[in-house]
Amino acid sequence: MKRLQIGDVTITSLVERDGPWRRPEDFFLDYDSAEMAPHVAELDPEVFDPATGKMVITYQTFVVRTPRHIILVDTCTGEDKGYGPPMDFPKQPWMDAFKAEGLTPEDVDYVFCTHLHIDHSGWNTKLVDGRWVPTFPNAKYVFHKREYAAWEALAKEGVERPGGAGGVWKLNCEPVMEAGQALLVDDDYALDDTITLTPTPGHSPCHCCVNITSRGQKAVVAGDLFHHALQMRKPKMSTIFCWDPVAAAESRDKVFQAVADTPTLLLPIHFPSPTAGRVVREGDAWRWTYKRD
Ligand SMILES: [Zn+2]
Repeated sequence: MKRLQIGDVTITSLVERDGPWRRPEDFFLDYDSAEMAPHVAELDPEVFDPATGKMVITYQTFVVRTPRHIILVDTCTGEDKGYGPPMDFPKQPWMDAFKAEGLTPEDVDYVFCTHLHIDHSGWNTKLVDGRWVPTFPNAKYVFHKREYAAWEALAKEGVERPGGAGGVWKLNCEPVMEAGQALLVDDDYALDDTITLTPTPGHSPCHCCVNITSRGQKAVVAGDLFHHALQMRKPKMSTIFCWDPVAAAESRDKVFQAVADTPTLLLPIHFPSPTAGRVVREGDAWRWTYKRD
């Protein structure tokens, strides 16, 4: 994604991996290939690879610079976590992108995780002398308290769920809490008048969107509220990774209703460049329109 300006706020992207990833029929629940074929045919070339029949899925972090703070939203899969394929991406692209921003880990003031899945919390921590410690020593990490509690409970019961398997909470969240850097927040949390949260549960126990408002302009980091433009055409379609597929669809609908046909930009974490876009209402469904200017 190119540098995006929202009033006084600048947003850039650190990409960990990019490219064709999954076939929609393997990723969405109750996917009807015949019904969806016309929608696949009209997709933007950035989001679908006809040669492999796979959706193009990006793993990225947003760097949000406000006049007061440097904020990271979602932290990809990280390094040294020991995840097997396909989550064992090379880490250098993210590290290089972070350095190219002119940032050091000490510069980061806040880390927001839209949710606590494997691919949204990885760089929260790093391995130092065999111990997991927060990667960003001066940052507060903002987690929704119900999201945190749900993954903590599962980890302590030894239950693994999609998106959180492989000890994600223990690796990416517990060390942050132990270091005193976690901020467990409620539904009405606002960092200030620029950064607020909207709970959008469903994909995970309490997934949240991060709202960015400045000088009358607005963007919403949508996390995994939706993963692909195909979900605009069939909004009820949730994924095999969704905690509660029905609630996920309800949250999508609420956000789309709120932002459709407005200037508000959405930044879904898994959308390839140009990444940011808007929602246009079309009958009972929606259309994704990339911001290309
Ligand atoms: Zn994700």
